[in-house]
Amino acid sequence: MAGKYEFDLQAHEHFYRYPQMYRVEPFAICGGLYFVGNKDVGAHLIDTGNGLILIDTTYPTTASILIDSIWRAGFDPKNIRYILHTHGHFDHFGATALLASISGAKTFLGEADAKMFRNRPELALIGDCKYAYLEPFVPDVQLRDGDCIELGNTVIRAVSTPGHTDGVMSFFFDINCGERKLTAGLFGGAGLNTLCRTFLDKYGGEERREKFLESLAKVKGEKVDITLGNHTNQNHTLEKREKQLQNPQGENPFVDPSEWKRFLEQTRLQFEKMIEDNG
Ligand SMILES: [Zn+2]
Repeated sequence: MAGKYEFDLQAHEHFYRYPQMYRVEPFAICGGLYFVGNKDVGAHLIDTGNGLILIDTTYPTTASILIDSIWRAGFDPKNIRYILHTHGHFDHFGATALLASISGAKTFLGEADAKMFRNRPELALIGDCKYAYLEPFVPDVQLRDGDCIELGNTVIRAVSTPGHTDGVMSFFFDINCGERKLTAGLFGGAGLNTLCRTFLDKYGGEERREKFLESLAKVKGEKVDITLGNHTNQNHTLEKREKQLQNPQGENPFVDPSEWKRFLEQTRLQFEKMIEDNG
């Protein structure tokens, strides 16, 4: 039985066995920004006017759901030009090889996670994914702090925010929402499962704890109107979608300029609590 902070394989049993029960009808968050993930993990699609950018590709076991969601959002997966990854864990690159082969898309991953794939592939945590054949991929582009990825009308700024893994990248970009230009922000790795005592005792990486806190502080000053999550619980994706459906003409529940700082602060407090509980 996993503790509170570890990845809980048992809790994911149902998810792996019945992925179809975790489908989410894809939807536009705002302007050309779409949610195409499932109930557990986020995947975001950006229509740049000159091809698509996909951020994260979910689990290998949900690849077909992701591809179906891209179609249902109104897009052809072969028009994906760039696939970005928040970090190198199996739940964020599970469908990358498949989608890259369908589309010919260029793949992007933080430099340190590309190195992790080469030197310590066990840290991609494929053992937790119930799909033994997944392999780390070789990214076409290794991202560094401050890199900008440009396509069509979109420029995505990648900010190195290590901690959850060494190569976590957070992304910031503007989106045209009707008359307004809004900034979306995605913190690339907020999970404590790789920072908890049992994980560190098994795999090492004690220094990532300090880096995690530095990363939270590093991006705190970013002006973000739309806080995205690479897991849906981080930004309450599904609850917001429910509100959006109930009141389609009302204020967009995804637009909340105060959420970013609140999310980072809550994440920091949860981290402090974990140390207090488990050392
Ligand atoms: Zn992760």
